[in-house]
Amino acid sequence: MDCLFCKIVSGEIPSTKVYEDETVFAFKDIEPQAPVHILIIPKKHITSAADITAENSSVVAHIFEVAAKIAKQEKLDDGFRIVTNCGDSAGQSVKHLHFHLMGGREFTWPAG
Ligand code: 5GP
Ligand code: ZN
Repeated sequence: MDCLFCKIVSGEIPSTKVYEDETVFAFKDIEPQAPVHILIIPKKHITSAADITAENSSVVAHIFEVAAKIAKQEKLDDGFRIVTNCGDSAGQSVKHLHFHLMGGREFTWPAG
Protein backbone atom coordinates (compact mmCIF):
# COMPACT_ATOMS: atom_id res chain seq x y z
CA MET A 1 0.00 0.00 0.00
CA ASP A 2 1.33 3.39 -0.95
CA CYS A 3 0.92 5.10 2.40
CA LEU A 4 3.34 7.74 3.70
CA PHE A 5 2.84 6.91 7.38
CA CYS A 6 3.10 3.13 6.80
CA LYS A 7 6.47 3.93 5.20
CA ILE A 8 7.46 6.01 8.24
CA VAL A 9 6.53 3.07 10.54
CA SER A 10 8.64 0.67 8.44
CA GLY A 11 11.56 3.12 8.35
CA GLU A 12 11.46 3.41 4.56
CA ILE A 13 10.90 7.14 5.07
CA PRO A 14 12.97 8.63 7.92
CA SER A 15 11.36 10.46 10.83
CA THR A 16 12.31 11.81 14.22
CA LYS A 17 10.95 9.11 16.48
CA VAL A 18 9.61 10.12 19.88
CA TYR A 19 8.08 6.81 21.01
CA GLU A 20 7.54 3.29 19.71
CA ASP A 21 6.01 0.08 21.02
CA GLU A 22 4.31 -2.96 19.48
CA THR A 23 1.24 -1.13 18.22
CA VAL A 24 1.98 2.60 18.29
CA PHE A 25 4.55 4.92 16.70
CA ALA A 26 5.08 8.63 17.48
CA PHE A 27 7.26 11.10 15.62
CA LYS A 28 7.79 14.84 15.19
CA ASP A 29 5.62 16.60 12.61
CA ILE A 30 7.77 17.79 9.70
CA GLU A 31 5.95 21.17 9.65
CA PRO A 32 5.31 21.94 13.32
CA GLN A 33 2.39 24.24 14.15
CA ALA A 34 3.43 24.57 17.80
CA PRO A 35 6.69 24.30 19.78
CA VAL A 36 5.73 20.67 20.47
CA HIS A 37 3.96 18.96 17.56
CA ILE A 38 4.06 15.19 17.57
CA LEU A 39 2.05 12.74 15.48
CA ILE A 40 0.90 9.55 17.20
CA ILE A 41 -0.26 6.75 14.91
CA PRO A 42 -1.24 3.09 15.00
CA LYS A 43 1.40 0.93 13.31
CA LYS A 44 -1.36 -1.03 11.59
CA HIS A 45 -2.97 1.00 8.83
CA ILE A 46 -6.34 2.57 9.68
CA THR A 47 -7.40 5.21 7.17
CA SER A 48 -9.11 7.69 9.48
CA ALA A 49 -11.27 8.12 12.59
CA ALA A 50 -14.22 7.12 10.39
CA ASP A 51 -12.72 3.62 10.19
CA ILE A 52 -12.50 2.97 13.93
CA THR A 53 -14.52 -0.12 14.84
CA ALA A 54 -15.05 -2.45 17.80
CA GLU A 55 -12.28 -4.61 16.32
CA ASN A 56 -9.56 -1.93 16.13
CA SER A 57 -10.54 0.69 18.73
CA SER A 58 -8.26 -0.60 21.50
CA VAL A 59 -5.27 0.98 19.77
CA VAL A 60 -6.98 4.38 20.08
CA ALA A 61 -7.18 4.02 23.86
CA HIS A 62 -3.52 3.06 23.85
CA ILE A 63 -2.64 6.09 21.72
CA PHE A 64 -4.21 8.33 24.39
CA GLU A 65 -2.16 6.61 27.10
CA VAL A 66 0.96 7.24 25.02
CA ALA A 67 -0.11 10.86 24.46
CA ALA A 68 -0.37 11.46 28.21
CA LYS A 69 3.07 9.94 28.69
CA ILE A 70 4.64 12.06 25.95
CA ALA A 71 2.92 15.21 27.25
CA LYS A 72 4.55 14.61 30.65
CA GLN A 73 7.93 13.95 29.02
CA GLU A 74 7.61 17.18 27.05
CA LYS A 75 6.56 19.04 30.24
CA LEU A 76 3.27 20.22 28.76
CA ASP A 77 1.91 20.72 32.27
CA ASP A 78 0.00 23.89 31.29
CA GLY A 79 -2.06 22.01 28.73
CA PHE A 80 -1.96 20.55 25.28
CA ARG A 81 -4.25 19.74 22.39
CA ILE A 82 -4.93 16.40 20.70
CA VAL A 83 -6.54 16.64 17.26
CA THR A 84 -7.41 14.19 14.52
CA ASN A 85 -8.57 15.51 11.17
CA CYS A 86 -10.96 13.11 9.48
CA GLY A 87 -11.67 13.43 5.78
CA ASP A 88 -11.09 16.12 3.20
CA SER A 89 -13.28 18.89 4.59
CA ALA A 90 -11.51 18.59 7.95
CA GLY A 91 -8.16 18.89 6.18
CA GLN A 92 -6.88 15.32 6.53
CA SER A 93 -3.93 15.29 4.14
CA VAL A 94 -2.46 11.89 5.08
CA LYS A 95 -4.95 9.03 4.93
CA HIS A 96 -3.49 7.01 7.83
CA LEU A 97 -5.12 7.71 11.21
CA HIS A 98 -2.98 10.11 13.23
CA PHE A 99 -3.41 12.21 16.33
CA HIS A 100 -1.66 15.57 16.51
CA LEU A 101 -0.28 16.20 20.01
CA MET A 102 0.45 19.91 20.21
CA GLY A 103 1.65 22.12 23.03
CA GLY A 104 3.95 24.87 24.17
CA ARG A 105 1.69 27.74 23.14
CA GLU A 106 -1.86 29.05 23.64
CA PHE A 107 -4.62 27.64 21.41
CA THR A 108 -7.86 29.26 20.36
CA TRP A 109 -11.22 27.51 20.26
CA PRO A 110 -13.13 26.65 18.17
CA ALA A 111 -10.37 25.62 15.79
CA GLY A 112 -10.82 27.23 12.36
P1 5GP B 1 -3.27 16.11 8.51
O1 5GP B 1 -3.17 17.33 7.64
O2 5GP B 1 -3.54 14.88 7.68
O3 5GP B 1 -4.16 16.23 9.69
O4 5GP B 1 -1.83 15.92 9.13
C1 5GP B 1 -0.76 15.42 8.42
C2 5GP B 1 0.49 15.94 9.08
O5 5GP B 1 1.57 15.17 8.61
C3 5GP B 1 0.80 17.40 8.78
O6 5GP B 1 0.85 18.15 9.99
C4 5GP B 1 2.15 17.34 8.07
O7 5GP B 1 3.00 18.40 8.43
C5 5GP B 1 2.70 16.00 8.50
N1 5GP B 1 3.58 15.38 7.53
C6 5GP B 1 3.34 15.26 6.19
N2 5GP B 1 4.36 14.59 5.60
C7 5GP B 1 5.24 14.28 6.59
C8 5GP B 1 6.50 13.60 6.60
O8 5GP B 1 7.01 13.12 5.59
N3 5GP B 1 7.12 13.48 7.80
C9 5GP B 1 6.58 13.98 8.96
N4 5GP B 1 7.30 13.82 10.08
N5 5GP B 1 5.40 14.64 8.98
C10 5GP B 1 4.74 14.78 7.81
ZN1 ZN C 1 -0.77 3.61 6.36
